[in-house]
Amino acid sequence: MTALVDPFGRTISYLRVSVTDRCDLRCAYCMAEHMTFLPKADLLSLEELDRLCTAFIARGVRKLRLTGGEPLVRRGFVGLVQGLSRHLGAGLDELTLTTNGTQLTAHADDLARAGVRRINVSLDTLDRARFARITRRDALPAVLEGIAAAKAAGLRIKINIVALKDDNAEEIPDLIAWAHGQGFDACLIETMPLGETGEDRTAQFLSLKAVRRELESFWTLRDLPDSTGGPARYVRVQETGGRLGFITPLTHTFCEACNRVRVTCTGTLFMCLGQEDAVDLRAPLRASADDDLLHAAIDAAIARKPKGHDFAAERLATPAVARHMSMTGG
Ligand code: SAM
Repeated sequence: MTALVDPFGRTISYLRVSVTDRCDLRCAYCMAEHMTFLPKADLLSLEELDRLCTAFIARGVRKLRLTGGEPLVRRGFVGLVQGLSRHLGAGLDELTLTTNGTQLTAHADDLARAGVRRINVSLDTLDRARFARITRRDALPAVLEGIAAAKAAGLRIKINIVALKDDNAEEIPDLIAWAHGQGFDACLIETMPLGETGEDRTAQFLSLKAVRRELESFWTLRDLPDSTGGPARYVRVQETGGRLGFITPLTHTFCEACNRVRVTCTGTLFMCLGQEDAVDLRAPLRASADDDLLHAAIDAAIARKPKGHDFAAERLATPAVARHMSMTGG
């Protein structure tokens, strides 16, 4: 099978799949408080998700990240992971997920047994009241318990922190120090203009350039050459010994090396997180039991992958794209 190479010569080797748009948190920068979720009947079945991922792996995808919404709220999710793990070492190098951690206590051991080696956990604060304000749910104890369970199960953990001017700016150094103290990587992310949330993101936008300057006033940050093939730029914090990433879609574009595409839980393939263009894979998937139509649709989509997003800090007040991160997955 031929590899997936886009018009700019970039080989697509990384697929992110949102397995549900539902979430048990309501992070204010991510979604509206009263979100309308998709009817369950619109979602790809677990078997269809498996078939879709398998088709991409046949085309050279080596890293698969399952996300959402919250992937662990989808019933049967661990079974999907167990099934997909058959590709590890047989095309697939890494099978991983991004989670808010609320359900990890119940599932961490099974995930580790299924061959998951590392996970990303999103956590923007260690303060219970602040967590409840940002996520609109009082779930910090469950998340911390889940993270501890994942660590005990031997999973490597990266803590993803969205930098928010009013909500967590002052806590960022403590959060990084805590993550590094636990032996986790940490990664800071700028808010992106994805979907209406009922709030103006401009007020919450915090440039990571400014955060880095602030961190450098008391820590020594050494640039690391290693990259996970993604948009993060990494440093080693000399004082904590830990790794810290910066994802700066607003202050620095990272599209030149983009190696990824995303599929929603309804089977829509987005070639860029920050653009509206998309290709439906559900119809070809359902049209026939063999994958010819599916591969033709994937080829047509990759041929349309744009050069990059055009997020801009000065346009944060209006979403660059209508859909929420919970649809395409973070
Ligand atoms: N529920 C899982 C979680 O919390 O990690 C996976 C999905 S969540 C949409 C993935 C990541 O996207 C989280 O780290 C979240 O903080 C981030 N995110 C959501 N909306 C965002 C936005 N508008 N800008 C930047 N990051 C966002």
